[in-house]
Amino acid sequence: MKPIVADTHTHTLASGHAYSTIMENVHWAAQKGLSFLCITEHAPEMHDAPQSSFFRNLYSIPDEIEGVKVLKGAECNIMDFDGSLDLPQKLLRRLDWVIASYHGPICMPGTLEQNTQGWMRIAENPDVDVIGHCGDGRYVFDLEKAIKQFKAYDKIVEINAHSFTVRPGAHYNCREIARCCAKYQVPVVVSSDAHFCMDVGNVAASVAMLEEIGFPEELVLNADYDRFLEVVRKKTGRFTV
Ligand SMILES: [Zn+2]
Ligand SMILES: [Zn+2]
Repeated sequence: MKPIVADTHTHTLASGHAYSTIMENVHWAAQKGLSFLCITEHAPEMHDAPQSSFFRNLYSIPDEIEGVKVLKGAECNIMDFDGSLDLPQKLLRRLDWVIASYHGPICMPGTLEQNTQGWMRIAENPDVDVIGHCGDGRYVFDLEKAIKQFKAYDKIVEINAHSFTVRPGAHYNCREIARCCAKYQVPVVVSSDAHFCMDVGNVAASVAMLEEIGFPEELVLNADYDRFLEVVRKKTGRFTV
């Protein structure tokens, strides 16, 4: 696979339990040759996360810093199995890149049916771009059913490199999820979920797994500059020059 051009999931100091500034993250992204960086802080229901006013004011950050295109987003918390999120729709519409993820204790793992239903509802939400770290073994779900739904609603599935070290069952689950995405032609992104600047762009574990299973590179949105730029332009209406 070609080197990735974007890190689609990163946190800064604003997330409370992360340790670098936006400038430090951008600087490391530039050093590593990335063309895009998505800033995706945890949304307000996480106890140490910023409030909604933080997300409302993200437009203050320029679209390009040190030659890196900066997407202003959020990692929303899935609140329940009906697909509720912790930022209002009006605000989500204004963000460039919205990830939805399950996190305990905000939404404790349910049964396979409940976890699946949560993803089915999330997929229907037009303001969600990315299905966040769904390889977490604590939130097992019906892959066939949910991934077909992700395809139907034009979602992107995240293959989160951080999962391989912190989320139980991720090795097996991420592989099965990727296989299912290939089967139904669902696009994926690889991401670091960095909580420190030196981790920005660290997606080696995700790339290694995708290469191992022969995942089609054309479905990895952030493995090609033009491919990712097209996605970004479509979502934001900006980044046109
Ligand atoms: Zn975090
Ligand atoms: Zn997360």
